[in-house]
Order: sequence, then structure tokens, then C-alpha cells
Amino acid sequence: MIRLTGLVKRYGRFTAVDGIDLEVPRGELFGLLGPNGAGKTTTIRMIAGILRPTAGTVEVGGIDIGTHPLEAKHRMGYIPDRPFVYDKLTGGEFLRFAAALYGQEGPAVERRIDELLELFELTRWKDELTESYSHGMRQKLIISGALVHRPAVIVVDEPMVGLDPKSARLLKDLFRQFVDRGGTVLMSTHTLEIAEQVCDRIAIVYRGKVAAHGTMDEVRRQTASGDMSLEEVFLKLTGGLREHQLDAVLEA
Ligand code: ATP
Repeated sequence: MIRLTGLVKRYGRFTAVDGIDLEVPRGELFGLLGPNGAGKTTTIRMIAGILRPTAGTVEVGGIDIGTHPLEAKHRMGYIPDRPFVYDKLTGGEFLRFAAALYGQEGPAVERRIDELLELFELTRWKDELTESYSHGMRQKLIISGALVHRPAVIVVDEPMVGLDPKSARLLKDLFRQFVDRGGTVLMSTHTLEIAEQVCDRIAIVYRGKVAAHGTMDEVRRQTASGDMSLEEVFLKLTGGLREHQLDAVLEA
């Protein structure tokens, strides 16, 4: 379970996240949508405990990350938008390092690492330095690193970027099975089709606030959008296209 209460983040006088209240229960895959600069990454970083909110609270599995950060982080796997790995570690070493951060080591962890590498088709790269990995391979290694300690909650920023169709499908299936077994996933995405296909509920964030949230049908109802596509609902809520500016730029 993830609960955000009155979450605010200000950078100087600029308010990036402006009072977000959201609850994602166990067994749910929740999508955070919104245009560039809406505040999605800032929100996700506050949930992951790497940015301190200006105001409000984040609870992960009922534990306040502000007052009990280690306990909350133990329950969570965080997958950032940019896959950072240490170039001079092999894939296997990186995963061992990730597990050790959660105090886990030994034969059970080695088996878990092998399972994850197998799942993401990285087994034959296990002993290669990550500097030789492609972008997608790094992304899959980071995802494995977030799962290695068996978290109950996954928080993930733009998970499908850089993944080939097979890996993207694998990740969607993995998230679905994870929530079907009682886990919780909160993901941000720009890909409206992905949100429509995989998310149980969504929130559309605009200028740091939740403009609409619920199931796709509920969001359509809230915006009185009839049977509009998610793309049309999204554009309606976030200011639409500037056709006249397009014309001006493209005019010969
Ligand atoms: P995108 O879809 O482009 O990734 P986003 O919804 O994830 O966007 P954020 O990265 O959360 O957006 O940024 C929200 C706003 O906060 C933006 O206007 C951004 O310029 C601002 N912002 C983010 N980080 C900082 C920072 N460290 N200092 C000042 N402003 C920041």
C-alpha cells in the first residue's frame, strides 16, 4: 500500500508538487500520467525517499518514510528513470551489492540473482562488466536490482523506455502477476496505451496537482468525456494542442 497525504515539493518559489493525496492499495497497478514537467518524477522520488517533501507524508506499507525511512525502504523496490549502474561491477556483482544493501546474502540470494538474470535473459552476461551492457540491458539489471530483496511495493519511473517489445511485455506481465499476488505497483508513464492496457487506476497530474484519478471509466466520467480515448481525455485535462502555434512554426 502507498498513501500520499498533502504531498508538496517546492524548489525555491516554484511549486513542483502542489498537494497530492493518493492511495494505492495492495493488489493494484497504478499509473501516474501527465505532461512533461507535471511533477511525476518529483512525486516518485519523494515516495522512494530520495527527495524530502516540503510538506505532507508518504506511507509505504503503512510506514511513514519520513520518520522510519529504513523500514519503509525495505518494503520497496525503486526503479529510477535513468538506469545508473556501476560500470566496473559485473551484472552478478551489482545484484549482490543491491541485495547486500538490504542485508541479504548467501545461497538463497545467489539463487534469486540467477532466477532474475534468467528471467531477463542476462544470464550469459552475469560475469561481464556492466560498461559493456546496452541501455536496455542496464534497465533490466536495474529492474532486477529493485526486485532482488522481494519488495511488497514497486515504485517505477517510466519503466518501458528503452526496452524492446519482448522485454516490455515481460515487464507488464511481471507487474501484473506481482499485483495479483498482493503487491502494489505505482508507475509513471508517458505511453497512454500502456496505461490503458495495464493500469487498474490512473491519476493525471498537471502542474503538480491531480487533475483526475480513478479507473479509466471514472476518469472519463469526471471529465464528462463520454467515450473519448485516453489521449483525448489527457489532452483535454492538460491544455490540448496549440494548433495555431504549429501552423506558425511550420509555415513556409
Ligand atoms: P517529465 O515527464 O518531463 O519527466 P515530470 O512530470 O517527471 O516531467 P518533474 O521532473 O517532476 O516532472 O518536474 C516537475 C517540475 O519541477 C518541473 O517544472 C521541473 O523543472 C521542476 N524541477 C524538478 N527538479 C528540480 C530541481 N532540482 N530544481 C528546480 N526545479 C526542479
